[in-house]
Amino acid sequence: MCGLIGILSREDAASRLIAGCKRLQNRGERSVRVVTFDGNLFHSHGGLKPPSLQFFDFDPRRLPGASGIAHTRYATVGDVDMASLERNIQPVLSDRPGMATCDNGDLVNIRALSRRLKDDGFSFQTQVDAKVIQNTLINHLISAKFYQARGVTGFARILFDCVRRSILEMNGAYSVLCLMEQGLLGFKDRHGIRPLSFAHRLDEKGEIVEWAFASESSVFNYFGDYHGITEVRPGEAVFVSHKIMDKPIQERLVEDREAFCFFEFCYFSRPDSTFKGHYVEVVRQRLGGILAEEFAHLKEDVDMVCGVPGTAITTGLAFAHALGLPYHQAIIKIGEKRSFQETTPDKRKKAIDDKYIFIRHFIEGKCIAIVDDSNVRGLTGQELAARLFSLGAREVRLLYYTPAIIGSCYYGIDTPNEEDLVAHNRSHEDIRGIMGCDGVYYISLDGLIRGLKIPKDQLCLACLTKDYPTDISISGC
Ligand code: SF4
Repeated sequence: MCGLIGILSREDAASRLIAGCKRLQNRGERSVRVVTFDGNLFHSHGGLKPPSLQFFDFDPRRLPGASGIAHTRYATVGDVDMASLERNIQPVLSDRPGMATCDNGDLVNIRALSRRLKDDGFSFQTQVDAKVIQNTLINHLISAKFYQARGVTGFARILFDCVRRSILEMNGAYSVLCLMEQGLLGFKDRHGIRPLSFAHRLDEKGEIVEWAFASESSVFNYFGDYHGITEVRPGEAVFVSHKIMDKPIQERLVEDREAFCFFEFCYFSRPDSTFKGHYVEVVRQRLGGILAEEFAHLKEDVDMVCGVPGTAITTGLAFAHALGLPYHQAIIKIGEKRSFQETTPDKRKKAIDDKYIFIRHFIEGKCIAIVDDSNVRGLTGQELAARLFSLGAREVRLLYYTPAIIGSCYYGIDTPNEEDLVAHNRSHEDIRGIMGCDGVYYISLDGLIRGLKIPKDQLCLACLTKDYPTDISISGC
């Protein structure tokens, strides 16, 4: 999971790219980089700080150009020493052709693809999927003699044929942006696992002056009057050029079953984003009502409800409202930290310790229902239960609006070993014991689907069902 933003405009793009990065910090803060193209040269700035710090006091005029892309990184591959993290900052660059590329997601067959590219003469100075994606595409572009293409449509025809060939070879989850001398390209894997949308901005005469791509639609709400927000379809490529600003060239290149990651709604995305016509925060609210239906009997035992900030407050409120229970914000989050972005269990535990404060007044002597988004490794729930008991809670019940997570994610979320998942091969009673609380309650899979209001066969639910949309047996090949 990472954040992408791309702009092709009649005006300099850097200030809006930087603003977009800051609004996609929820998707990654391990590193950030903005790359622009001024019609002659590519310009780049970035580093290992979160976007809000990396670009604090940065003058956007240092990145001239009317087109550009940017990336906020959540690291799931590569080493975590400083030198490796520096090397693995995206977007990655190429000279032949002039291109910058960034992606969100993970390739399942990255090793096989890298080996084949090395056989074809490519070398790798980075460990990130974006470089493999870029080199796969470049390999096809060079074979197709892209440099002989005539006009924008002639170039787009060759480009799309090369993207189609690349999608057919690349197994996994990827939403990609490529900044090229000829324009800006976005495309998605054949299942559309990770999000990517595009929109346009008009001038006062009603003419299109800008196209923008972003991982989350909410980015478009904050810096300009964007229209026509459209999600890139699974296996689709969208190309925009300065020479044809009135409409993008787009084509669904590979058709397959859609498998959009349900977790975008439950945890990853900003509450003000929409996917498939559904507001993330509204989905979270609906899931609170469904939790109340499924666990109505808790009304008899529980004194009060508290949603865990920042994702589960609306869900907790909906749960409390449906059962007629008091709601108190006994847990308050300080700062922007998301503990899943840490790279080791110790760092995750420290991030959890650092990010919450507790209001003893609401806690002492109470039986508390805590509503949270999901229970992956069990760390947050364990910490919260221990802290609530130490502050005098009589009972702690933990409710989750994501069903039990029993399978690893191979598509860009850092849960590589099933043994690390608290629900893997364990009964609810075993999990309750590990969490150190008085009850653990997961929404049902049917309840989740009802809350999402998206057909099950259009979603990736693999970490709940182990029904993976791609072949994962080749993982690590
Ligand atoms: Fe999302 Fe789970 Fe599928 Fe990974 S396995 S893409 S987290 S639904």
